[in-house]
Amino acid sequence: MPEPVKRVVIAGGGTAGWMTAAALSRAFSGSPLEITLVESDEIGAIGVGEATIPAIHYFNRTLGIDQADFMRATQATYKLGIEFVGWGDIGSRYIHPFTGYGRDLNNVFFHELWLRYAGLRSEKGRSVKIDDYNLSCVAARRNRFTHSVSGAQAPLGPINYAFHFDAGLYAKFLRAYSERHGVIRTEGKIASVRLDADTGFVHALVLEDGRVIEGDLFVDCSGQRALLIEQKLKSGYEDWRQWLPCDRAVAVPSNSVEAPVPYTRSTADDAGWRWRIPLRHRIGNGYVYSSRFMDDDAAEHRLLRTLDADAMAEPRRIPFCPGRRRSFWINNCVAVGLAAGFLDPLESTSIHLIQTAVLKLLALFPDKSFESADIAAFNRHTQAEYERLRDFLILHYKITQRGDTAFWRYCRDMDVPDSVRDTIALFEARGRMLISSDNLFPGHSHLSVMLGQGLKPRGYDPLADTVPEAELEAHMRSIRDYIERATAAMPEHIEYIKRFVGGAGDVA
Ligand SMILES: Cc1cc2nc3c(=O)[nH]c(=O)nc-3n(C[C@H](O)[C@H](O)[C@H](O)COP(=O)(O)OP(=O)(O)OC[C@H]3O[C@@H](n4cnc5c(N)ncnc54)[C@H](O)[C@@H]3O)c2cc1C
Repeated sequence: MPEPVKRVVIAGGGTAGWMTAAALSRAFSGSPLEITLVESDEIGAIGVGEATIPAIHYFNRTLGIDQADFMRATQATYKLGIEFVGWGDIGSRYIHPFTGYGRDLNNVFFHELWLRYAGLRSEKGRSVKIDDYNLSCVAARRNRFTHSVSGAQAPLGPINYAFHFDAGLYAKFLRAYSERHGVIRTEGKIASVRLDADTGFVHALVLEDGRVIEGDLFVDCSGQRALLIEQKLKSGYEDWRQWLPCDRAVAVPSNSVEAPVPYTRSTADDAGWRWRIPLRHRIGNGYVYSSRFMDDDAAEHRLLRTLDADAMAEPRRIPFCPGRRRSFWINNCVAVGLAAGFLDPLESTSIHLIQTAVLKLLALFPDKSFESADIAAFNRHTQAEYERLRDFLILHYKITQRGDTAFWRYCRDMDVPDSVRDTIALFEARGRMLISSDNLFPGHSHLSVMLGQGLKPRGYDPLADTVPEAELEAHMRSIRDYIERATAAMPEHIEYIKRFVGGAGDVA
């Protein structure tokens, strides 16, 4: 019988380290598995990463986390989607919602019906916006929120939502959870990583003060330093800057001047884009830009000039390189979080990648024989996941209509992977999308970005013509009416949060 893994060592205590610790300690509670997490107070965590996507519910449920406790502890707000400002052309604005649009009719996709309907309306000199047929978009614009999908909202399905939260408080929350489940936290700076001379497996972490932490399985959550997977095991890195040109960020929190809205805002700027993440106690802001097109001082100046209110701290500059490790799991070392790779934070996918890495690790949890088939499966699935997300992100940059700065001209004119080119070409023909079911971002996500940024299909699916015009008109009207009524009945976002988590909190 192969021997079980008895000691897991997690190197790093940022979001990745504590999410890994929480999930493993929950899954192995009651077993003799010993989990140690090493982190350095002196180095600290990256401290950004405050917007999520709905899949986080699955992670929280797996851990048995109560939503109200979690929101209270992390000053969280709800997120219905992302508003993209100036991404199509300078004056454009659209929301990428987590909930789909409208409702299909007679087996015809809603968006194909909408393309036909929009054409009919424009012949009559009237324009229609697809956002008006999306529950989340309208609720977001009205600053409303509810969990409930009963009554008038039910015909359009559930409201999908995620959270904005304070990254520092989230790590603290997960640390407390993990320690309650038996994780041992060791404070100290890792000075070196010891390999077994015969096998090349990681044997121990050596701390600056001489302590030696031995283990059977090592999870590298050391962030961009990638102390184990890269510095020691030389995984190699695939650099994606030719498609995702942003490689730096400057981040700063600011005071809230108004009640938080239930969406992230991403505003396109001269050499990248700015994020605005409304929390209960502050706003997270940042400028993600390309160092080829803007220097750090100019980016910082630009960010500070565009804040709603005073900065609450000194701006922090964060370099990064979009791309992925060539291998995420080597021997007895698995990389999770920034140690594994990094994608432009435009669609808030990094915390999700941590979550899926941890869940995959659990699904393929090794014994001491470290089966090569398990390791290969982990690497293959993770690579495919990174590439699908990469393509969705590239799409945002590639289909800009902007040509006002060198950065946007570069994005508009760059060569993209065939997979992205095919998605665009298929949509431009008849508005069709063949998005695989394992894509995190389904058809409606691609639709919102492509229509939102001004891609106009030359026609629509002939099936849409099978619906009589009067039926089409009535269908569209009924959806709009539904959404109008349902969102009018929803509480204000902040009022809902206060009621849900209990207590007024310190909001503006
Ligand atoms: C600009 C920007 C914006 C982002 N926005 C989002 C977002 O909106 N949504 C999202 O999902 N993600 C976002 N991310 C990604 C997100 O921040 C990270 O995925 C997440 O914080 C995980 O980071 P980490 O734990 O891997 O690394 P880190 O937070 O860097 O943690 C590394 C840990 O390793 C420890 N460590 C390092 N070296 C040593 C050593 N020698 N000895 C001991 N300990 C050591 C550190 O002390 C720390 O605890 C963003 C990232 C960037 C750069």
